Amino acid sequence: MKVYLDNAATTALSKEVLNEMMPYLTEIYGNPSSIHGFGQAAKNAIDTARNRVANALGAQPNEIIFTSGGTEADNMAIVGVAHKLQKKGKHIITSAVEHHAVLHTCEKLEKEGYSVTYLPVDEYGMVTPEQVEKAITDETILVTIMYANNEVGTIMPISEIGAVCKKKGVLFHTDAVQAVGHININVVEQNIDMLSLSAHKLHGPKGVGALYVRKGINLPSLLHGGAQEFKRRAGTENVAGIVGLGKAIELAVASIDETDKKLTVLRDKLIDGILTRIPEVKLNGHPTKRLPNNVNVSIKYIEGESILLLLDMNGIAASSGSACTSGSLDPSHVLLAMGLPHEIAHGSVRLTLSQYTTEEEIDYTINTLETITQRLRAMSPLYNPSMQGSSSCEATK
Ligand SMILES: *Cc1c(COP(=O)(O)O)cnc(C)c1O
Repeated sequence: MKVYLDNAATTALSKEVLNEMMPYLTEIYGNPSSIHGFGQAAKNAIDTARNRVANALGAQPNEIIFTSGGTEADNMAIVGVAHKLQKKGKHIITSAVEHHAVLHTCEKLEKEGYSVTYLPVDEYGMVTPEQVEKAITDETILVTIMYANNEVGTIMPISEIGAVCKKKGVLFHTDAVQAVGHININVVEQNIDMLSLSAHKLHGPKGVGALYVRKGINLPSLLHGGAQEFKRRAGTENVAGIVGLGKAIELAVASIDETDKKLTVLRDKLIDGILTRIPEVKLNGHPTKRLPNNVNVSIKYIEGESILLLLDMNGIAASSGSACTSGSLDPSHVLLAMGLPHEIAHGSVRLTLSQYTTEEEIDYTINTLETITQRLRAMSPLYNPSMQGSSSCEATK
């Protein structure tokens, strides 16, 4: 049996999305900037996609800038605001649990002389609007807090943070790559000034995303060249990708409640199955304010990497927060920020579902994980005190 439970990393391209994209990879190949019919056909497709993305967010079409993905959208928002408002101030507020597309961009800005506050999170990976409010100073030009965490699925109080930022007159960006398609979003009602999203996390193609930028905020371009994307992002458009993003987001948002209901049942079945069948397991992330497709558990006394390897041998694709065997011994920055001890963070496994996940796959995963855990624990010196010693990760730390 093949079971794909790594949908926070990327999702399968939906057939409907592929069908929508196909003509733009074949007969409709014009450059959208060309004024002839070939070009205009491509341009019309981009306009349609822009309307679809805007509709999904409660935004206006001219507030959507297509990018190469979530990473570029995050970079564009953060670097753009930093450079544009540097005369006003050089302070940025973010959280300790952001995706590296945000964290590493902030670190780069620190090297350029900006100061960044990395708000700590509670045991569930949550920041509060009060924390944000307290951290804002006269120098603050941007607050960037993710909508939902990609590792533990915790959903942040985005509307409340948006309200604080509005009250304080500070721009608010959110990395909503994991949230779009799972949470109903309205950028106007939620006081979101900028929002990043990515197609391949919602059954669209890889290499395309978008940044919503509220009207009136004129971000400088990261890329210089042609006048595409309202002169905000130069380069001939990824027409087929943009078409795919438009279709994927429209489909995801149209069925959001139905999909979430189904996913929540399967997610809770997986969580309950793991917690009841395997002793000494901890659920990471918020028990209720979490994405309907996210399960993240720490299985004590064994390493996430070993679990992943055995899961893979049984046809199950999952992910871990730690990177013990891939050159780095550091466990996930998210789990550490939530206060998990190193040894528990090392035993973490992330299982993320999609609309294509079946109950049969969930049952198979629970059974397999139980067997694997028993096997690994039988060999673990941590689980069997008689076998003195420590894990390979611990030994080299
Ligand atoms: C996947 C992801 C990104 C990066 O998006 P890409 O399109 O892969 O560049 C950024 N933020 C979050 C929260 C993500 O999950």
